[in-house]
Amino acid sequence: MNLAIILAAGSGVRFSSSTPKQFITVGGKPLFCHSVEAFEKHPEIDKILIVTLERFIQKTQAICEKRGYDKVIDVIAGGSTRQTSSFEAMQYLQYVLSENDTVLIHDAARPLLPQRVISEHLSLAHDYPGVITTLPCTDTICESSDGKALSKNLDRKKLYLAQTPQSFRFGILWKAHQQARDRHRTVTDDAQLLVEQNLPVAMAQGDARLLKVTTQEDLAIIRQWLKEMDKNV
Ligand code: C5P
Repeated sequence: MNLAIILAAGSGVRFSSSTPKQFITVGGKPLFCHSVEAFEKHPEIDKILIVTLERFIQKTQAICEKRGYDKVIDVIAGGSTRQTSSFEAMQYLQYVLSENDTVLIHDAARPLLPQRVISEHLSLAHDYPGVITTLPCTDTICESSDGKALSKNLDRKKLYLAQTPQSFRFGILWKAHQQARDRHRTVTDDAQLLVEQNLPVAMAQGDARLLKVTTQEDLAIIRQWLKEMDKNV
């Protein structure tokens, strides 16, 4: 079975809006619906689990019912960080999935998810325990240890931007999450948990439009892209 997890439990501190960004209306529907619909549309995705803020569970369920999403099995509460939200999803899924099922974890804040990316993930997931979506870095990235002076430039040829979805064999990721929790290890994404255990994580080709909405400016860009995509349909 292939199950998609939509992470929509962020409170969006950097977004400066009273409504969390995943519920802002974009292109005629709440932002998180774009990701749900990408997975609803894909023929190889069987089920979807949505992780959101406790106070938005009922609202999210109502939206899913109204929009007729038939792959969504449940809407559950997340945690205070992305890692704990992902952990909550794993904890729930231990009763739903088998070890060898595939989970695709996607940020609700990345609404423009191409079908091609989902297909590439599912194909790589046959051969790898983990798959991450990446884009080669076009800018030079530099490092500073004090935020005032440059420490070093990093080799651009070896650098990639990490996007979502990220896909995993359920049993392996669930175990890695439990170990990280026991060791109080904090990570910013799930793929890092596998890399730290020397497990191979394949790279699926990302897309510039998989931009994560962090600021109001990002949202303006997404709205513009949606308009262009509409014109091209
Ligand atoms: O925090 P950031 O913007 O990187 O979040 C990426 C994704 O993780 C977003 O879709 C956000 O809703 C989700 N998230 C979550 N639970 C948190 C923090 C972030 O599900 N506590």
